Amino acid sequence: MSTLTKCSIAHKALSVGTHRFDFKIGDRFFEAFEGSEIHRGKADVQVVLNKQSNLLTLDFRIEGEVCVTCDRCLEEFMMPVGYTGTLAVRYSETEQESDGEVMWIGPSETEIDLSQYIYESICLSLPYQRVHPVGSDGKSGCDPDMLARFNIVSEEEFDRLTGNEQTETLQDKLKTKKSTNEK
Ligand SMILES: [Zn+2]
Repeated sequence: MSTLTKCSIAHKALSVGTHRFDFKIGDRFFEAFEGSEIHRGKADVQVVLNKQSNLLTLDFRIEGEVCVTCDRCLEEFMMPVGYTGTLAVRYSETEQESDGEVMWIGPSETEIDLSQYIYESICLSLPYQRVHPVGSDGKSGCDPDMLARFNIVSEEEFDRLTGNEQTETLQDKLKTKKSTNEK
C-alpha cells in the first residue's frame, strides 16, 4: 500500500453521523514539512468523524514510529509514537485562527486537510528528551563508539548535564493528555 503525502477528508458529501477513515503515512508525508525535525517515519492514522449540521468532531488515534536523532549519542533511531486526541471543525464565513483543538473552515470548502494537525500531533507526542531505549539486556541502546567519541561517561552524567534527571516518558505524557481529554 502506498503512503500519502497529504491526509484530507471530503466532508461535504458525508451524511450526518459517524464515519471512519484510515490513513497510512510514511517518509513522503514527513518530507513535505520543510525544516521538520522528523525526516522519516511511518504511522497509521485512524479518524472517527462525527458529522453534525454545524460541527464536525474528529477523534484521532495515531500509532507508528519516527526517526529522530538521539540526544545522547547523536545517532538516528526509530522512536515509537502514539497519540490520541480530538479536533473540532467549525464553519465560519470570516477567517479565524485555528489551534490544536478547533479548526475553522469556510462554508464553501469541500475538503479538510488534516496533514498539519497530524504532523503537529506526532511532534507533540515526542518526549522532550530523545534517547535510545534501553535494550532487553538492560544496556543502553546508544552506539558505544559514538559515546566514546563524545566522551559521555554514563547515563547519570548525561542527565546531570542536561539537567533533566526525571525524564517524562512518552507513556506518562499520553496519560496526562488522555486524562485532560476525558475531563
Ligand atoms: Zn543514542
